[in-house]
Amino acid sequence: MILEILKYPDPRLRKRCEPVAEVTPELKKLAEDMLETMYASRGIGLAAAQVNQQIRLLVADIRPKENGRYKVDDMTDLERQAPMPFIIFNPEIVSKDGKTTYDEGCLSVPSYFETVERTKVIEIRGLDINGQEFMVKTDGLLAICLQHEIDHLDGKLFLDRLTPIRATRLKAKIKKNGYPDPDKADQDDDQEVEM
Ligand code: ZN
Repeated sequence: MILEILKYPDPRLRKRCEPVAEVTPELKKLAEDMLETMYASRGIGLAAAQVNQQIRLLVADIRPKENGRYKVDDMTDLERQAPMPFIIFNPEIVSKDGKTTYDEGCLSVPSYFETVERTKVIEIRGLDINGQEFMVKTDGLLAICLQHEIDHLDGKLFLDRLTPIRATRLKAKIKKNGYPDPDKADQDDDQEVEM
């Protein structure tokens, strides 16, 4: 089932999400619906907060798509070792190493992109779709995406990670121009991705 994705400045995106006690069949279904919603929007990641569910769950899939949007060479060795699609409940970053930047886009702020600084290599721990604890070390786009989604679970958006000047400028631009009609949006112009 395709879910509605909340768009900035919806105040529901600012709520903090709560950990799950266990992975119930209802939560498994939610994770599947979130993946379906993410694929339909051509995104690479989605947090439960974005579909108005205040629980600590995120999904991601950074594999190359049939439309050729991402090149397989772009995946790092660590990314190739990560389970895909990536589904994690109660995600927690347990180690961080290095810095990187990426031109990030967000399904809740569609068609706007800004360079954001993130940690380069992370180790993340949480529960998988079967409720089993697992830990993954990753880098590349997957590490960036997971940090972006965990921000959503804390009520944060990538706008909050910009300098005040850039954030003000971007918010003014969104207020003035709004969001494009998803059916008319140009979706195959470049490799910029939303999450
Ligand atoms: Zn986002």
